[in-house]
Amino acid sequence: MPDAGVSDGVSDPAALAPEAGRSSDRGLDRIPARTLDRVGPKIAERLERLGIRTVQDLLFHLPLRYQDRTRLTPLTEIEVGVETWVEGEILESGIGLGRRRSLKVWVGDALGAGLLLRFFYFSPQQAAALKPGERVRCYGEVRQGPQSLEMVHPEYRLLRAEADEPIAACLTPIYPSTEGLQQTSWRGLTDQALALMERTAPAELLPPEILDPLGLPTLTEALAFLHRPPVGTSLQDLTEGRHPAFARLAFEELVAHQVSLRRMRLEQRRVSAPVLGGDGGLRERLRASLPFRLTASQERVVAEIAADLAQSRPMQRLLQGDVGAGKTVVAALAALQALESDCQAALMAPTELLAEQHHRSLSGWLGALGLEPVWLAGRHKGRERDERLAAIASGAAPIVVGTHALLQDDVAFQDLGLVIIDEQHRFGVHQRLKLREKGGGEDGAPHQLIMTATPIPRSLAMTLYADLDLSVIDGLPPGRTPIVTRAVPDTRRDEVIERVRQACLAGRQAYWVCTLIEESEVLECQAAEDTARQLSACLEGLRVGLVHGRLKSQERDAVMAAFASGALDLLVATTVIEVGVDVPNASLMIIENPERLGLAQLHQLRGRVGRGSVESHCLLLYHAPLSAIARERLGIIRDSTSGFEIAERDLAIRGAGEVLGTRQTGSIQFRIADPLRDQPLIAEAQRAADRLLVGYPELVTPLIDRWLGEREHYGGV
Ligand code: ADP
Ligand code: MG
Repeated sequence: MPDAGVSDGVSDPAALAPEAGRSSDRGLDRIPARTLDRVGPKIAERLERLGIRTVQDLLFHLPLRYQDRTRLTPLTEIEVGVETWVEGEILESGIGLGRRRSLKVWVGDALGAGLLLRFFYFSPQQAAALKPGERVRCYGEVRQGPQSLEMVHPEYRLLRAEADEPIAACLTPIYPSTEGLQQTSWRGLTDQALALMERTAPAELLPPEILDPLGLPTLTEALAFLHRPPVGTSLQDLTEGRHPAFARLAFEELVAHQVSLRRMRLEQRRVSAPVLGGDGGLRERLRASLPFRLTASQERVVAEIAADLAQSRPMQRLLQGDVGAGKTVVAALAALQALESDCQAALMAPTELLAEQHHRSLSGWLGALGLEPVWLAGRHKGRERDERLAAIASGAAPIVVGTHALLQDDVAFQDLGLVIIDEQHRFGVHQRLKLREKGGGEDGAPHQLIMTATPIPRSLAMTLYADLDLSVIDGLPPGRTPIVTRAVPDTRRDEVIERVRQACLAGRQAYWVCTLIEESEVLECQAAEDTARQLSACLEGLRVGLVHGRLKSQERDAVMAAFASGALDLLVATTVIEVGVDVPNASLMIIENPERLGLAQLHQLRGRVGRGSVESHCLLLYHAPLSAIARERLGIIRDSTSGFEIAERDLAIRGAGEVLGTRQTGSIQFRIADPLRDQPLIAEAQRAADRLLVGYPELVTPLIDRWLGEREHYGGV
């Protein structure tokens, strides 16, 4: 090897930056991202993790949100709740030892206005550098602190006297990222991709016949705008996705989605499935052993499912029902119907926690019938795993519960007749298909039942899941004591802690949920650790546990199991407990910073209490003052316990033009479309999908690849 420096072995000179694409007429989808400047193997690997392989992929990796750093706001004009870019001189700084140790930095300007910067996590170097007399420029959300306006963990930069740092020329895009890729890298990468796009436009996949009547910008214009919105673009319009550039891309994405669903539906029609009529014997025995009667709406969906299973075409049904509506027993009855017909059933959940929960419920019900469900998780290794695999392959295990570990290649079923998938939005469409491939034997594909608690209005569900039939469980089983929800300012934290003590001393259990204080899982977990430490200190004699996303799943499961068995009184957690926890004795939940969560998420979280017969309480421990909208939203959660009603009222406020974490709602992860916001485009997209399938079949696959092709990479947990 003559020159170790070029051992990479790039043989195609056109693939070398910065000439990439210049001389060639290759499409942007043919230029690998690794040919860009400053993309080494490490960065390439990280990009790949996000499904980005080509320059075109990079262009379709759109900002999550934007910041306005095109102008500095004078300290006299800053407003609570607004992300702001400010500059000032450090007047004073020091480490405060309040409830939580923090670095406090007071900044002032010539007019005498001031702002407090507050850091809970900081290094000694940081504390030393932020010293009086320095000029600092920082960006963050302004909050009302106890004494003054403040920014918690702002992004900041110390200014050197000689160089007056330039102000951004366009709004600053913030890209969805992965560990090890900074926003500055994203901006550098997209700068290069945008420059290449000026020479070669990405392929237009929607014919003029469809696009022209809509009067939207071209694809190139839309992409350029969304990556670098010019000065003067309203930040609010952007956040709400109300610019035609969004509409242009959202429309294309919706069409891609519709086309892919139609194509799947057509494929399903051609496939056969085992006829699972069943003799009703096992189902009768389960019903007889239940301590309750099914509600009328459970009976209705059970009948809908039973009829589908008796067909020779695979069922593809979505079972929708609010948190606590009783979907599991419906799933158990469906599974038994498969067993009665000598087929196996599998239940797949998105997390080990949730899978274990299902395993426990099913064991309880089916164990009594002499049927022991087998459970398969990623952590089962070696002999344990082999034994389980053997039982699944021989049919000795009639019911299998697991995570996406069930999708692995070495998992083979003897005769899989029914697949049940819980919380579908965590799985990609492709994973659903993969599980389908595992079953049916010579009879074709297994039936599929998909369960979700995501409350989406029926009309919307029909379009989002155009490949599925829909069954809905309305309302909750009778006899539940509704959860009483109250909003409490965090100035009354001590009272709330006392309340926790009383509940636990009375023999009940409580959750304390710490939410994102920043867009960082690490910080969220640290906050939970701090809170757990602090609460243990305050609540002497109570047993406090902690779970968060950075614990190993085994550790997490052990804590959860301890809480479920009553060995812990209080569980401090991040939002990881959103799904899968069912501890009826837990009757109190505290949610910190509820104003930072979406309403759907708050509703899901709160559903962890109110599962037993005692009255349950949920306290929303907010940080005052709340904006008008935040107050209205917390009011909705306080006044309603119906997921559907909450979703509708959420939609109504958005209709009034408000921002509610657009990308969290909706059960399918769209990149840019928001099915609620873009409702008016959906009908148009459906018509366009029909025209494409009939008139332009050659465009269908590229379109699906562009928007959905990499979905598998996003799947899993
Ligand atoms: P989800 O729909 O959120 O999955 P689950 O299936 O976990 O809800 O049910 C919540 C609780 O309600 C469980 O403890 C379950 O046994 C109970 N349950 C289900 N159906 C009924 C019913 N018809 N009457 C009373 N309790 C029920
Ligand atoms: Mg459930």
